[in-house]
Amino acid sequence: MTVYRARVMDTPDDPFAGGALRASDDEGIVVDGGVITARGPFEAIRAEHPGAAVVDLRDGVLIPGLVDTHVHYPQVRAIGALGMPLLEWLERCALPEECKLAAPDYARAVAAEFCHGLVSAGTTTALVFGSHFATAVDALFTESARLGLRVTSGLVVSDRELPDDLLTTPERAYDEAVGLAERWHGTGRNRYAVTPRFSLSASEPVLDACAAVLDATPGALFTSHVNENLAEVDVVASLFPDCTDYVDTYDRRGLLKARAVLAHNVHPTDAELAVLADRRTAVAHCPSSNSALGSGLFPLGRHLAAGVPVALGSDVGAGTGFSIFKEGLQAYFMQRLLHDDGHPLSPTQLLWLATRAGALALGLDDEVGDLSVGKQFDAVCLRPPAGTALNVGLRHCASDEEALGKVFALGSDADVADVWIGGWQLLSGGFVRAPLR
Ligand SMILES: [Zn+2]
Repeated sequence: MTVYRARVMDTPDDPFAGGALRASDDEGIVVDGGVITARGPFEAIRAEHPGAAVVDLRDGVLIPGLVDTHVHYPQVRAIGALGMPLLEWLERCALPEECKLAAPDYARAVAAEFCHGLVSAGTTTALVFGSHFATAVDALFTESARLGLRVTSGLVVSDRELPDDLLTTPERAYDEAVGLAERWHGTGRNRYAVTPRFSLSASEPVLDACAAVLDATPGALFTSHVNENLAEVDVVASLFPDCTDYVDTYDRRGLLKARAVLAHNVHPTDAELAVLADRRTAVAHCPSSNSALGSGLFPLGRHLAAGVPVALGSDVGAGTGFSIFKEGLQAYFMQRLLHDDGHPLSPTQLLWLATRAGALALGLDDEVGDLSVGKQFDAVCLRPPAGTALNVGLRHCASDEEALGKVFALGSDADVADVWIGGWQLLSGGFVRAPLR
C-alpha cells in the first residue's frame, strides 16, 4: 500500500454538463494492488493509514493518465511532413512508410518507438490504428503487453486505392483479424479493434468481413476514419452510391453497433451527427492533424448540440507528435477561430477531453480516466524543469483552473516526469523503466 501525496487535478464530472474541476493542493491518494482505495486531505488519509509508505509529489502536479483515442502506430517515422492535403500526404508520405512494416524487424523497432512515444507523452491508454500487416500488429501488442500499456488496436484492412502491398481480400482480412483477436483481445491490457482504414479503401465485402469479425469477437471495438477532408468525402460518395452519406457506409453494416470511435468528422451533416449520437459512437478529434493537413475546423459545438461524444486524438503521422496537451491547446485555438459552430473551451473541459472523455469513448470509464476511489492508478506527474515558463507559471498562478490552463498552454513531453499504469511506475524522472530493445 502506498499513499501518494500531491497537488491533484481531475474531472470526474462532465464539465460540458456543469461538472467542476476537482482539485486539491495537498491530497492523499491511497493505492493498493494498483487500485485507488481511498483519497482525501493528506493529513486525514495519513492518520487512517499510519503504516503506508508515502510518496511525496508536491513538487509537481498529478493528473490522470492521458487517453489518446486516435493514433497511428506505423507513422511514428512520418511525423512532421508538412505542406500536403490528406490524399497527397497519404500517397507521398504515410503509405510508403506503412509498407515498410511488412518486415518484422522493422515493425518491432517501430513498435518500440511508438510505445515509448506514448509513455513519454503521459499517454497511458490509447486506441491505436494498427498496421496492414498481421505480423506488425503482433509486434505492437507484444510491446504494449511488455510495458503494460492499455492499448486497443487491430489489423488495418483495405482492398483498393492503396499500394498493392497494403491490400488484402475479405477472406484474409477475416482470418488474420480473428487470429489476432484470439491472441491479443483480453491479453494483459490489450483489446482488439476492428479497423477498416476508411470506406474509401474498403469495399463492401471487406466491410462485411469487418462486421463478421466484430460478431466473432465479443467486446471488440470498431474504429475507422470519417469526413476528414472534402475531397475524400466526394470520393466515398461516388464509391457508395447506395449509401446516404459517409457514416452510413459503416452504419448500414452494423459496424456502429459495437463500441465505435470514428476519427476526425470535420465535415459531418446533421443527419450523420444524429446517427452517431443514437449509436453512441464517439468522435476522435485530432486538431493538430486537421490543421497540418488543412482538413478544416472541427465543429465541436454541433457535436455537443447533437449529443455526440468527443475525445482527443494525436493522429501522430499527420499530427505533430504524441502530446495530448498540445492537442488540447490546438483544439482550444481552433474553437476560438470557429465563430459559428465553435465552442470556447475552458482548461477544465480540456482536461476532461484529454482523460475521462477518452475513457468513456473506449468503454474504460469504470477503470481509468479520473482518480476516484475504485479506479486504477493510471496517473501522470508533471514536473516542469526549473526556470521554464510552466514551472514559473505553476508557482505563481492564482487558482487551480489557471494552473490547468498553463499546463495545456505550456505543457510538453519534457514536463512529463512520472507515469503510473495500474499502480506500476513505468516512467520515472522522464525515463522509461522497462528496457527498450
Ligand atoms: Zn488517422
